[in-house]
Parts: sequence; C-alpha cells; structure tokens
Amino acid sequence: MTTLLPPDAHATDAIARAIEVLSGRRVAVLTGAGVSTDSGIPDYRGKGAPVRTPMTAQQFLASEQARRRYWVGSHLGWRTFAASEPNAGHLALADLERAGVVNGVVTQNVDGLHLRAGSHRVVELHGTMRRVFCIHCGQVFDRRDLAERVEAANPWITVPDNIKLGPDGDALPESSDGFVIPECSICGSVLKPDVVFFGEYIPPEKFSEAERIVTSSEALIVAGSSLVVNSGIRLVERARRRKLPVVIINRGDTRADRKAAVKINAGTSEVLAALAKGLTGTAT
Ligand SMILES: [Zn+2]
Repeated sequence: MTTLLPPDAHATDAIARAIEVLSGRRVAVLTGAGVSTDSGIPDYRGKGAPVRTPMTAQQFLASEQARRRYWVGSHLGWRTFAASEPNAGHLALADLERAGVVNGVVTQNVDGLHLRAGSHRVVELHGTMRRVFCIHCGQVFDRRDLAERVEAANPWITVPDNIKLGPDGDALPESSDGFVIPECSICGSVLKPDVVFFGEYIPPEKFSEAERIVTSSEALIVAGSSLVVNSGIRLVERARRRKLPVVIINRGDTRADRKAAVKINAGTSEVLAALAKGLTGTAT
C-alpha cells in the first residue's frame, strides 16, 4: 500500500494519473463481473454471493435431472439478465470505441451488456446467454425465442424476488420437479446455452481473438475483475510482455495490482465515465 489518502481523493488522483498514462494510446479493455453489478447483476465472487460449485459440462451432459435443474435456473437467470440495462461504465466504453480510443473489449461476462451498450468489437470469452445451440446438429437458437418456448411449456414458472445468480447467469431453483426441458426443434437433441461451463476450456480461436485485441493495442484497462480466472491473467501477461501500461479499476485487490501502472480502487461505472470524459474531452 502506497497511499494514505482517503478513498475519494485517492481515486480522483489515480484517475488523473490513468488519463496521463492512457492519453494518445489505443486501448484494449478486459472486463469482469464488476462492470455489471451497477446493472443489477450480482458478482458471484463478491461479498454475499451464494457459495456453491457450478455445474460442469460433464454433469450437464450426463444426466437429465442435472439438465432439468440447470435449465430452470438458467431460464430464471436469463429473465433477470434480459431485464437489466447497460450502465454508465458500459456506455463509456462504447463512447471510447466510437472516439477511436478503445480498440476492443474482451469480457468474461455472459450478459451481453457491452454489445447492447453499443460496443462493436467485443470478445465474449465465456460465451453469451443470448444464444443456445444444439450439441448434436449445431443449430443455433436465439435465447428470446427459446425463453418463450420454455414459458409456453412451463406456464407455472416465475422469477422470484431477490434472485441469487450463479456464475453462468443461472439461478438456484427451489425445485425443478415437472419442468419440461427445451430440446432442439430440428433434431430433438440436447440444447446447451452458448456459455463456457465451469471446468470447460475457452475455445482457442476465441482466446486468439482476445489476444489480437491486446497485442494490437498500446495500453490495457482491466475493469471489474479480480483476475482470478486464468484467461484474464494470461491477457495481462501478454500486455506486460509487450510493455503496455496496465490500468486496473476494481474494488478490492486483484492478482495483477503490483504489475499495474495505475490501480484505481473504486467502482467501474464512475471511473470509466471519468476516463471517457478525460480521454475524449467531452462530457458523457
Ligand atoms: Zn439439433
């Protein structure tokens, strides 16, 4: 710890230093769950998050009971995601891309909020809740259409208040008895949300795309991630190897704090909005 300033003064000072470091550079951005908390999507690693082990792809594929439980939770989680809106942080990153400052966004989130905020070059490392695909024939389905099918087949299903979301954007259902699992309307096989399950690998071509964003940039911002997930720390290493300055915005410690040019210990929405203002010269 090098600062003795109170948090607000510290953050203001750190933002000014970040603007200095980032000024005139093309910037890659890596985001985690922290950028979406202000949109009402809880950070499952944050305080008060339910402690549980996420379902693996093997469990999902091996048992119909597991799939039933997963689909109830995933459907409830999707409804919560679909009702959320991009926040000031997502919007600031879209503004920065339009202004030619942000080169691309790599996200660990599956909520699709960067795209909805207007960011164009987005790599969704862990996939997206917006798509579902058939593991047999490969047919891709839009989640909104599928949600309608799920509700038509299970008219009793409702989203409870104070829903607790899990790592794949799924909720923990009280019961999944009697739930009719959606199946592929083409071949009748198993449908799987297009998200990387716990213990699954990120497709190599997707990681390469994320790497290209970092290696074709001149600086890296990490926002709302404690970098617990390995893919995140690997991208920070790529940036470091190319001697790119790294700016970290996160409440709490991250695995790369000591390697950062600037660490801003504050909320991502207000800090990204301040950076957008400082780097584009316009109010957001
Ligand atoms: Zn199929």
